[in-house]
Amino acid sequence: MLLLLLVVVLVPTSGVLWFMSQAMGNEQLAVRQKLSDVYQAELIGLQQELQQYWQARSAALEAPELVGEESSAPSALVFAERVRGGLADSVVVYDPTGRPAYPALALANAPSPETVTADWRRAERLEHSGQSQLAAKRYAAIAEATEDRNLAGRALQAQARCLARAGAMPAAISILAEELSLPEYERAVDAQGRLIAPSALLRALELIGDGSDAAFETIIDTLVERLRSYRDPVIPSAQRLFLMKQLGEVAAVELDFDTLSAELLAERYLASDPPTAPTTSLQPSGLEGIWHLASPSGAVVALYEQERLNQVVESLIARRALPQSTTVELLVPGEEPPDLFLVSLPAGGFLQDWQLVLRPEDQTLFARAANQRIKAYLLTGVLVVGTIVGLAMLVARLIERQLRLTRLKNDLLATVSHELKTPLASMRLLVDTLLETGTGDAQRTDDYLRLIAKENLRLSRLVDNFLTFSRMEQGRQAFDLEPVPAGSIAEAAADSFSERFRAAGCRFEVQIASDLPSIVADRDALLTVLLNLLDNAYKYSPEEKHIVLSGYLEAGQVCFTVRDNGIGLSSRVTGKIFDRFYQVDQRLSRPGAGCGLGLSIVKFIVSAHGGSVAVDSQLGEGSTFTVRLPVADGTQGSPEEIR
Ligand code: ADP
Repeated sequence: MLLLLLVVVLVPTSGVLWFMSQAMGNEQLAVRQKLSDVYQAELIGLQQELQQYWQARSAALEAPELVGEESSAPSALVFAERVRGGLADSVVVYDPTGRPAYPALALANAPSPETVTADWRRAERLEHSGQSQLAAKRYAAIAEATEDRNLAGRALQAQARCLARAGAMPAAISILAEELSLPEYERAVDAQGRLIAPSALLRALELIGDGSDAAFETIIDTLVERLRSYRDPVIPSAQRLFLMKQLGEVAAVELDFDTLSAELLAERYLASDPPTAPTTSLQPSGLEGIWHLASPSGAVVALYEQERLNQVVESLIARRALPQSTTVELLVPGEEPPDLFLVSLPAGGFLQDWQLVLRPEDQTLFARAANQRIKAYLLTGVLVVGTIVGLAMLVARLIERQLRLTRLKNDLLATVSHELKTPLASMRLLVDTLLETGTGDAQRTDDYLRLIAKENLRLSRLVDNFLTFSRMEQGRQAFDLEPVPAGSIAEAAADSFSERFRAAGCRFEVQIASDLPSIVADRDALLTVLLNLLDNAYKYSPEEKHIVLSGYLEAGQVCFTVRDNGIGLSSRVTGKIFDRFYQVDQRLSRPGAGCGLGLSIVKFIVSAHGGSVAVDSQLGEGSTFTVRLPVADGTQGSPEEIR
């Protein structure tokens, strides 16, 4: 039975525990999945915005005006506009043949003037032989004579050089800063393809040298304006960079060129020989931290620094209301995602192989969210297991009670049949003997009849007890209450009992106070009480019995005590003897008849009369049972031996 109960408890309990552990294991995954689903939409929105952003960028980079153009003018303008428009950190504009148009590393070689051989060589020789004044004149003549603006420009440059060497500074400066700035020399280029006019201005500044000179300031302003302009005629990028740097040094002031960093970046980019051709998606350029992206036609390549890309994503993210306590990161191709992230998505077509990653700022987010659910699971689990154990205990108690009752009933049946059999058998024996031997011997007949009457009495009380018990159990025991003199009940009990003490060695004392008051009681029921107590005293006493029945008044209560010199009771069992069916000695072969009902009937009847019953006993030294019943008048009586 215990094993069965154990199984009944253990199987569902282990089932519940298994489910709980599974559920807890899945909880983190579930929480993660749930959060992922919620945040997925956010990231998709961001992805679309990024896509739109780059789409617009790419379209804005494109320069339709370039297509089919030969002139470099639009290229430089496109460069300046895209950079100044903030579309990229720098751009490189390509010509239709796929060569960089602006900025370009190599200068376009200007065609050498035709007349350089004759007059020019002579002038050069004079210059090299130190005849600067003469050389200057020669160069001036060349400039004068030629129609070729390039040659004229170069000759004026050489004239100014020779004049400066000869110490004629004002004349040299005038040529450099004024004459060469005339519109006719606007497009004149030197042998390296550089525009002569801006170079001449820088040279004029170097010659003036004095920053306080009014002309100095004017020339600086003119040159700065010229360097800022990307209009035709365009200063080649290499020359522009050189002049921008040199001008800063000559002027000894910080000059602000808004395209300088873009020019420098483009120069670096072109010099680095990009390992991968730019595509319409952002790719590493080969320069560390620099990404390049081609416009749809490939005519414009935009360059971006990593920092700028981060800012773009940050500003887009800032515009969106992202879920609290989460951050979004943009991972460059090949970058490993962080350990704990919720959702990751490709960043879109323009950012191929880039990834958007949304992760919780708080690393314990999953654990915390899952913990709450796990706590609920644990609580439910504990409740379920507790209920199972509680129910199992209840069932166990019920089964145990049922088993005990069944056992008691079996005992009762065995006891009843045993108890009925003994007096019946002895009565039949006595009657048979009388029938056989006849009633001639008056003394013997009298003895036999007394014995039969005694057995009959015993049988009657047994049956009475069974009937009382049965009525008691069914709640049908009714008491016929009326005022009865308490003493008369004790006397009646003593009378019906004294017969038994004829045997030698038996002593029965009755001490009933003469002034015992009346009590409201069922006479027969109280008689049963006293007879049961006396019967027990008799049964559980040795051969030499000494039994005392007392009746007296104490503390306003009528008390009846039955004292014996019997086997007594241990303190362990005194609390149980009033329980139905309880017997200290449960062997069938126990001395004395009985079925464990007498004292429970006593207690029942006494309680119904508003009284109490108690026992005072010591093992081997006899017992004293005391019944206390309430009286109305409370008159005191003293024990007094009357028989
Ligand atoms: P029974 O029919 O067995 O006597 P009772 O209810 O009258 O049943 O008594 C319950 C048990 O209490 C008895 O079996 C006996 O062991 C113990 N008992 C009752 N009266 C006495 C007594 N006077 N002395 C010793 N034991 C007693």
